[in-house]
Amino acid sequence: MALILNGKEVADTLKQKIAQEVEQMVAAGHRAPHLVAILVGNDGGSQTYVGAKEKACHEVGFGGTVIRYDETITEEQLLAKIAEINADPEIDGLIVQLPLPKHINETKITHAILPQKDVDGFHDVNMGQLAKGNDGIVSATPLGITLILQHYNIETAGKHVVVIGRSNIVGRPISILLSNPGPVGNATVTVCHSRTQNLSHFTLQADIIVAAIGKPGFVTGDMVKEGAVVIDVGTTRIDDATKKAGWRLSGDVDFASVEPKASAITPVPGGVGPMTITALLNNTLKARKAQLK
Ligand code: NAP
Repeated sequence: MALILNGKEVADTLKQKIAQEVEQMVAAGHRAPHLVAILVGNDGGSQTYVGAKEKACHEVGFGGTVIRYDETITEEQLLAKIAEINADPEIDGLIVQLPLPKHINETKITHAILPQKDVDGFHDVNMGQLAKGNDGIVSATPLGITLILQHYNIETAGKHVVVIGRSNIVGRPISILLSNPGPVGNATVTVCHSRTQNLSHFTLQADIIVAAIGKPGFVTGDMVKEGAVVIDVGTTRIDDATKKAGWRLSGDVDFASVEPKASAITPVPGGVGPMTITALLNNTLKARKAQLK
């Protein structure tokens, strides 16, 4: 039976530590960290994510502000707001919830955020720092994955990690992070994607699998080596009339067939998801501390 990597529990423990640091910071006469999230439009998923981030900020004693715009906001107006926040010394972190309406260029928006305030870690400067193995802001989901591995003392050095997915927000950065030198790193990493041929050939060799595809139940037991650690990043909403919301979240891993073979596995929900928000708090605290140096 696999060890269930309880992201909710780990996130709560880490949040307590962050809250203690904030208390000490404030007791020493400094301002608490402040995160601002910009939300454009009425997308249900985005509203939920931003709401959860705001709540988490308040739980650890951060300032947390959500700026909501109608989807008719222009790119220029959004850029002007970002410039204003960049220049505000009272704000340490800024995230613009994606996706944005089609008339707004997401790359332009991401690049407009000051790299020091880019607590999502999406800016090219932060991605570049990661690629070079320098200290920078690492995007929240990959950072969250490393925090959960670290918490459970899962060794990555010398292990073969197979990452399925090569997106800029999950697959690519986690593959770099785990191959970089560092406490949760030094792995041999294979990156697979939709053009990979005979995917099982790779996954069956993996000591650790990171599934970041966006296809519910894609990774099945026959693709997994006995004793592998399986990290499921996927979060797809599936219609479910038995749920109050009318949907439930499904991961990229078929838990029923993979769990009996794995040595450890993250559930969905309650695995990587809660860690992402905690990693975002971590990044905001780091941005604040950088100002105090
Ligand atoms: P994405 O940008 O759509 O990337 C998906 C990746 O999967 C792509 O690289 C794609 O390959 C690859 N892929 C698609 N079909 C495949 C196949 N048949 N075989 C192998 N690889 C295949 O998605 P994402 O943003 O990385 O997100 C992935 C999942 O994680 C989604 O469910 C998302 O909701 C979830 N997510 C969760 C969190 C969290 O906090 N828990 C955070 C972020 C994302 P190509 O590059 O060749 O197209």
